[in-house]
Parts: sequence; structure tokens; C-alpha cells
Amino acid sequence: MSSSLDPAVETTQTSASIQEVELAHTAGTYSKRPVVIVRGQGARLWDAEGNAYIDCVGGQGTANLGHANPAVVQAITAQAQTLISCPEMFFNDQRALLEQKLCAATGMERVFLSNSGAEAVEAALKFARLLTGRSEIVATMRGFHGRTFGALSATWEKKYRGPFEPLVPGFHHVPYNDLAALDAAVTDQTAAVILEVVQGEGGVHPGKPEYLLGAQALCQARGALLIIDEVQTGFGRTGKLYAFQHYGLQPDLLCSAKSIAGGVPMGATLLRPGLGELPPQAHGSTFGGNPLACAASIAALDYLQDHHLPEHAAELGAWFKDALEHIQSPLVREVRGLGLMVGMELKQKVTPYLQSLMAAGVMALPAGLTVMRFLPPLVITQAELEQVVSAVSGVLSSRPAKGEA
Ligand SMILES: *Cc1c(COP(=O)(O)O)cnc(C)c1O
Repeated sequence: MSSSLDPAVETTQTSASIQEVELAHTAGTYSKRPVVIVRGQGARLWDAEGNAYIDCVGGQGTANLGHANPAVVQAITAQAQTLISCPEMFFNDQRALLEQKLCAATGMERVFLSNSGAEAVEAALKFARLLTGRSEIVATMRGFHGRTFGALSATWEKKYRGPFEPLVPGFHHVPYNDLAALDAAVTDQTAAVILEVVQGEGGVHPGKPEYLLGAQALCQARGALLIIDEVQTGFGRTGKLYAFQHYGLQPDLLCSAKSIAGGVPMGATLLRPGLGELPPQAHGSTFGGNPLACAASIAALDYLQDHHLPEHAAELGAWFKDALEHIQSPLVREVRGLGLMVGMELKQKVTPYLQSLMAAGVMALPAGLTVMRFLPPLVITQAELEQVVSAVSGVLSSRPAKGEA
């Protein structure tokens, strides 16, 4: 356990008592695994008993830079001693530098900073309405864009939406990777089409290049904006800084979050050059663009570029996907992915296999009911991924554990 805890607290806080306290006080909206994670380093996690895991949950996509990344830690520490709070009513050195670097790296022109993926999506939806004077949004089946009301209205999954209806009006959902369906749905009332380049929560489904480029052409022809949601695919995950860069796409609005600030909460909505002016007071966020998150994000971006993490993700991801495809098991339906965003679809529910994998020292995520999803920190080594492959192979060839994952 962390040595900074009061020793008295440390000795009384067993894994079981920590879980008991959290279960007594958490709002209860999450299903949790029975493990207390207390430390991370690179692509490794440790629990309160000192057991080590190879981390292919990767903070649900927020840990691309690796746990306790030294550059991020250094930047946060230095900035915390300098200035943490600075609302956007003032200018700030860290914010200016970050906005400049993000635009240079993406070809976008302007940035709205917030604190999460859902907020990055909310801003994009509001900007699309504001800039087009239209109100309708076309989104996709299996798409995931967050849990706030606007983002949830763009999200497809019934179990997320159902209990909170009525949602924001004007949203339509069409099948993903189906250009004819999109063609039929985009009208002169459409403010924007919102797409993931690889659907993440929906089961790791990569978009076909001709679909994504076709969607862009359709939007241009009908005066609708193209919102690319790269909250999960961004920051090196798929083998480029942003996944749209694989295909020469030009998003009108780009949503980023998760790993953008090395694990510190941050969202960003980027606007392409020439999209038009947003009037003062049109949108805002108290924490948005705070110097602590900006300094973390600058360090994350510099580290990612200096250490060629996107290239590493492309190479290792191709190797990993291939290795998973070579696992001989009648349980596997398909392996899909791009870079180090990889999904293995099973013919059965995935939960018991994820639990067995955890017992074997590997953390992985579900994506829907039947897909095992891997989002390791991009600093993971081939040797660590070899251990993941052998653990997956072992788990698929033995009887699964029972219970929650
Ligand atoms: C995770 C995710 C979001 C929501 O991000 P939060 O930070 O949880 O609000 C939005 N879009 C995509 C594609 C995501 O993967």
C-alpha cells in the first residue's frame, strides 16, 4: 500500500474492509470487481494484497501513457505548485501552449476544453446546432457517446437510455458501416452526423474507410457537420495520434478525452479551420482549461510523440491481434481491432472468462455481452502482451469461473 497513508489506517484497511466501506457508500451505479487496486506502474497494476496484474483495462482508455508516467507526474507536480485553478475569463500560459500543440497535431484550428468525454460530445452537439442553425443529429446503432442527456441521446444502447427517457429530441440512429442508411437519414434539417472511427463500447467495430469518407462527402453535400468522437480511439490508441488520420478524413468537430491528459480528467472539442465563429457566452465550463490538466496534457502529448507511442501501438497491435487470431478455440467468433484497441468476440457471454483472466493476472474489459476488449497502456511491452495471449489461451481452454467480472 501507499507509504503516504497513516500507518494506523494502513494496517486496519484490509481489502475486505475497503470494499465494505465503498459498497456502503457508493451510489451503486457501477458493477464492481472484488479487488482493491492501490498502485500502478506502466502497464502493471497491484491490488491491496500485493498481487500484480497486466492491465488491459488501461483505466477504460485513460491510461495510454502508462500508470505513473514520469513525464506526466513531473508536470502535474510542478504545475500544482504553481497554479491549479484559472478559469477561462483569464488567459493562461499552459492553456495557450496546449491549444497550440493540439491544433498543430490535428490540423484543427480552435479548441473548447472541458473535463470528460461526455462534455466534449455535449459541446460538439451544441456547436453543431449553433453553427448550422439546424437541430437534428444522426448517430449510429451500437454507438456510445457518454451519459449526460445530449451525449446519451446520441448513444444507442437501450439499457443506458431507457430509464431516462424522454431524451433530447431530434436524434436518429442508423446502422453503422451502412452508407445507404446514412444517405437516407441526412436531410436539410441535419445539424450533424456523429461517428466513432472504431465503435468501442459497442463491441470494437472498426469503421470501413469508404464508409467514413462517404459519410464526410454526404455531410459536405448536405450542409451537415461531421462530428468524429475519438474519446476512445484518440491519443495514439489505434496507431495514429487520432484514428481519423488513418483515412485522410477532415472532421468538422473532433471530440477527445480519456487519455488526453495522461489520466487527469480533461475533454476537448476541436473545430476545423473556417468552421465559423462561436459567440462569447455560447458555452462554458468552470474547470475547463484549468492549468493542472493543461500541463498534464502537454506532457502527455510530448511524451507520446517523443516516444513514438502511436507507431508502437500500430506495430504491437498488429502482432497482438494476429496472436489472438491464432488461438485455437471453438469459443471464438472473431477478433477485430485497430492498433492497440482489440476485441475478441466469443460465442458466449464474456463475463466468466474475464473473471478467469483476472485470476490469471490479466485485467481486460467487456464491450457488450460477448466481446473481450483490450485497451492496454501503449507503453506495454511485447513480453507483457505475450503473457496476455497465453493467459487468454489458457482461459479459453478451461472451464470458466462463475460470478461477476
Ligand atoms: C468513454 C466514451 C465517452 C464518454 O466519456 P466520459 O469521460 O465517460 O464521459 C464518449 N465517447 C466515446 C467514444 C467513449 O468511448
